[in-house]
Amino acid sequence: MSSDGHDSLRDMVKRAMFTGLDEYAVTDHYDYDYKDRSIDFDLDVDEYFAALTSMVARCNTPGSRFRFVRGIEIGLQTGAANIKNSEVVSSHDFDFVIASIHCAWGCAVDIPEYHENRDPETAAKDFYDYTVRCLEEYDDFDVLGHINFIDRFTRVVPDEDEVWEHVDAVIKKIVDMGKGLEVNTKILRVLGGAHTTPTMRMLQRYAELGGETVTTGSDAHRVAEVGAGLKEAENFIRAAGLRYIAAFRDRKISYKKL
Ligand SMILES: [Zn+2]
Repeated sequence: MSSDGHDSLRDMVKRAMFTGLDEYAVTDHYDYDYKDRSIDFDLDVDEYFAALTSMVARCNTPGSRFRFVRGIEIGLQTGAANIKNSEVVSSHDFDFVIASIHCAWGCAVDIPEYHENRDPETAAKDFYDYTVRCLEEYDDFDVLGHINFIDRFTRVVPDEDEVWEHVDAVIKKIVDMGKGLEVNTKILRVLGGAHTTPTMRMLQRYAELGGETVTTGSDAHRVAEVGAGLKEAENFIRAAGLRYIAAFRDRKISYKKL
C-alpha cells in the first residue's frame, strides 16, 4: 500500500505461502516528510493496519503452518518525523517494526542531489552519522533496516576501511539499544550479488559486540520478489558465526535455530 508497492497484499501473501515460507511479515513504508518530492510515503497507516489485521484473521488460523506478521518500516528523520513515528507505532499493535534511514540531512539519499558535493565515502560517513543521530532520538523499533542502504546509490561502493569508524558507531549504538539488524537481500538484485546488506564485516562486528537479533527480508515490492535471496541470507548469517534467526510477534522476539 506504500507508493512504491506494485502488487496487492493478497497476491504478496499468496506468493509467500506458495514459496513455502513459514512466516511472512509485510512492512510497508511510512516515511513522514520524505525528502524527495517526486514520491510520497505518507502511508495511510490506519487503512494499512486494518488490511493487515484482516489478513491475520485469514492466515493465522489454528493448525495453519504459515504465519502472517503485521509489520511496518518507518523512515527515521530527526525532529518532527520521529515524533510522528512514535505516534504511528504506539497507536497500532504491530508485531514488528523496522526502522530505516532513507533521508539524511534533509535529502533523500537515493537522489542525485544528495551526492552532488559528496564523494562515495563522504556520502556514506554522513549517512552513518545521521543514522546515529536518529537512533539517539528514537527507539521504538525492533530492527534497523538495510544499515548500508547508502551503498546502493553511491557511484561506487564506498571503501569500507575508510568509513568504518562511522559504521562502527551505528553498530555499537544498535547493540547498546538491544536492537536487531536486518539482512536485506534487495542489494543482491540491485548490484548482482557483488555486495551484501549488511556487509560480512558489519554483521560479524554486530555479533562480536554481543548482538544476536537478525532478521531476513527480501524488501519485495512486487510478487516476483517475495522471498528472494532468503536462502542466501541464511547462509550468510551462518557464515558470520550466528546460529539463530529472529522472529517477532507482538513486538516480542523469538529465536529459531538456523
Ligand atoms: Zn527501506
